[in-house]
Amino acid sequence: MNSKNNPKEEIHWQVTANPPPESSAISSDLTVDTVVIGGGLTGCRTTLGLAESGMSVALLDAHDIGWGASGRSGGQCNPIWRETPEQLIKRFGESQAERLINTTINSADALFSDIAKYKINCDAVQAGWLQNAHSTAAVKSLEKLASGWSAAGATIESIEGDALRQATGSPAYNFGLRHAAGGHVHPLSLTRGYAQVAQEKGAQLFSNSPVTSIEQKGKQWKVKCPNGSLTAERVVLATNAYSKDLLPGLQQTFLPMVSIAIATEPLTADLQAQILPKKVTFSDSRLAIYFARYDADGRLIFGCVGSSETVGTLGGHQRLRQGLLTVFPELKNTKLERTWAGRIAVTPEMMPHLHEPAPGLLAAVGFSGRGIAMTSVMGRTLSAKILGAEDNTLPFPVTPLEKVPMHAILRRVLPLSAPAMSLKDKLDTVLQKAK
Ligand SMILES: Cc1cc2nc3c(=O)[nH]c(=O)nc-3n(C[C@H](O)[C@H](O)[C@H](O)COP(=O)(O)OP(=O)(O)OC[C@H]3O[C@@H](n4cnc5c(N)ncnc54)[C@H](O)[C@@H]3O)c2cc1C
Repeated sequence: MNSKNNPKEEIHWQVTANPPPESSAISSDLTVDTVVIGGGLTGCRTTLGLAESGMSVALLDAHDIGWGASGRSGGQCNPIWRETPEQLIKRFGESQAERLINTTINSADALFSDIAKYKINCDAVQAGWLQNAHSTAAVKSLEKLASGWSAAGATIESIEGDALRQATGSPAYNFGLRHAAGGHVHPLSLTRGYAQVAQEKGAQLFSNSPVTSIEQKGKQWKVKCPNGSLTAERVVLATNAYSKDLLPGLQQTFLPMVSIAIATEPLTADLQAQILPKKVTFSDSRLAIYFARYDADGRLIFGCVGSSETVGTLGGHQRLRQGLLTVFPELKNTKLERTWAGRIAVTPEMMPHLHEPAPGLLAAVGFSGRGIAMTSVMGRTLSAKILGAEDNTLPFPVTPLEKVPMHAILRRVLPLSAPAMSLKDKLDTVLQKAK
């Protein structure tokens, strides 16, 4: 790669997405059944479900629809958790875990069915996901993950040696898992697509409408923005890693980590035939997790963990370049077009939380880098709950807000975690090569 090539700091998906649905800032006082705060995938999918049922619903975003992680994402649909089904059973008990496991196994198919059903044009490709091991210890934990999830019904096969090198075009891995249901989407077009369909079904969309307070007034909630307000019986907070203090304690339930990404120039046909040749997506077991997939024009999107929303903080540019060349050395002369960053909400168990801190007030945050399939699952769950589904039928348990231990200190040192994770990953690969 030409080290003098500085990619433009610009969100690739903003440049390549379908146009947004029409929306403007709220400028009057309205009453609806439900207000959804946060126009990412979670908020948009929730709004769609409610509008489809005939409920009056308004969606508000502080910026544009898809401004947050949903419009910056790698867009990979990775349809399992980092814990095995056995661990989930221990954590949640048998019946809750069973609902979660079944929903998880179907989450990718459910996402691609949604896309087909609502005719959302978002470059959706369901060609599988390769999850590769960077060390011997990681091989063992991936094997355990595969055997647990396969036994529960997921379609996962292990792939090794030359077969893996051919499937990835990378010399960096000897062992991986192929998840047949995985795939990728244009994340901003998907988010805008959900919002557009919701609007067609009657939802009101408000952009540039930061919610400044939520107050309970009897059985109603009053949601205030700088130039207007909404009164509703139900409010959903879908603000994920961009949550501030609207709901006291919510932002202490996760750590707002950063993920950074680059888009290369479109790869030549020869390179596309070598690298991820079947348009499969890939991510690995590093703490600073490397991931890659193609966009619709043959650009490779590659990412890893970052330190701040300015990509270059604490060596971010270098980490991306080094990562890309470690995995795909054949890209040494490839130009980088764009680079960007976004926030992900990471919970201690790396799974999202569903909260109901007061009757009529719901919050769902903490997708921990697994948001593409799981935000849609959560959106469907939130709308089902609002429409009357009992908690004991939902895939996610409804839990109290619980602060991450030592949250204030961890938040302060968070920018250092990306270089620290990279160092640990390098030591892993030096000390114990994957089999
Ligand atoms: C670079 C990057 C790569 C990623 N790659 C992947 C991947 O490959 N696969 C995967 O599964 N996941 C990935 N993720 C994670 C995934 O994108 C997220 O989990 C998912 O998009 C979260 O969606 P959301 O709707 O919950 O939150 P967001 O999309 O972050 O939306 C939250 C919204 O809330 C709004 N908001 C906040 N406060 C207020 C307020 N007071 N008033 C009004 N609006 C407010 C914000 O403006 C924002 O638009 C990635 C994330 C990033 C950043």
